[in-house]
Amino acid sequence: MPYFGVHASIAEGYHNAVLKASSMGFDCVQIFSKNSNQWHTRPISPKEAELFKSAICERKIMFPLIHDSYLINLASAKPDVLSKSVKAFSDELNRASVLGIRQIVMHPGTPTGDDSDDADAEKNGLARIAESLDKIFEQSKSTDDFQVEVLLETTAGQGSNLGWKFEHLAEIINLSRFSERLGVCFDTCHVFAAGYKLSAKKDYNETMKQFDKIIGIKRLKAFHLNDSAKPFGSRVDRHAHIGQGHIGLDCFKNIVTDSRFAELPMYLETPKGTVEIDGEVVDCDVVNLKMLKSILTK
Ligand SMILES: [Zn+2]
Ligand SMILES: [Zn+2]
Repeated sequence: MPYFGVHASIAEGYHNAVLKASSMGFDCVQIFSKNSNQWHTRPISPKEAELFKSAICERKIMFPLIHDSYLINLASAKPDVLSKSVKAFSDELNRASVLGIRQIVMHPGTPTGDDSDDADAEKNGLARIAESLDKIFEQSKSTDDFQVEVLLETTAGQGSNLGWKFEHLAEIINLSRFSERLGVCFDTCHVFAAGYKLSAKKDYNETMKQFDKIIGIKRLKAFHLNDSAKPFGSRVDRHAHIGQGHIGLDCFKNIVTDSRFAELPMYLETPKGTVEIDGEVVDCDVVNLKMLKSILTK
């Protein structure tokens, strides 16, 4: 049985994200290490780190995961953006080690800047991502004592975002000198929007076969389970509640019952909010978790 997790807010403290996820019945948690739309932030205090680590321990939360800031773009050809991004991602690695978190998930990047209209933009962007990651791993304090693994996320391919083809992720991994520290996070909404079929069993098998051939199934370390508010192949990233989007429940059944992924964490990033069920106000995350558990046992 896979481990289900949820993205939880750190607005009320890192430890509160853990308590929230745990109280809703999740086994795992994903957080931002800071406000995801700001470059600068204060360091994590020893007290905050301590509270977080003890909450993880007490609540027996597994696979705590950091999602990197949305501002970071390791594919940018603009020198100022690229250097800020490298610095900010190094900081994410350090924050992970302070919190005792071993994995960070990241959106690979977008080739903005000088060559963004060139035919080679994609190739150059992928090379810049690999180069930047190598630089970060080299400089990272965590390289020796606390090995943080970076999970490249499959993207929907909005605009010129990289990472929507399995080949993009394979290329980054192949170019990096630290490939042993790279894995992949498979986001169902993004992969579907990017044009890979996931619902009918035979289509799902074919997509996973492609993934295995191009990237290698052993690189797959985590899932983001999100339905898609936009149609197949739309290349638009809009998450929907499980079973309420264009993907449908079959895809989730295929994944949660796939024995190859039985030990992996699977995080919800579905819209936040509450619904009223039989006169009771219920968190949408709880409803989505219940849905996943019900298709597991069906
Ligand atoms: Zn995601
Ligand atoms: Zn998304």
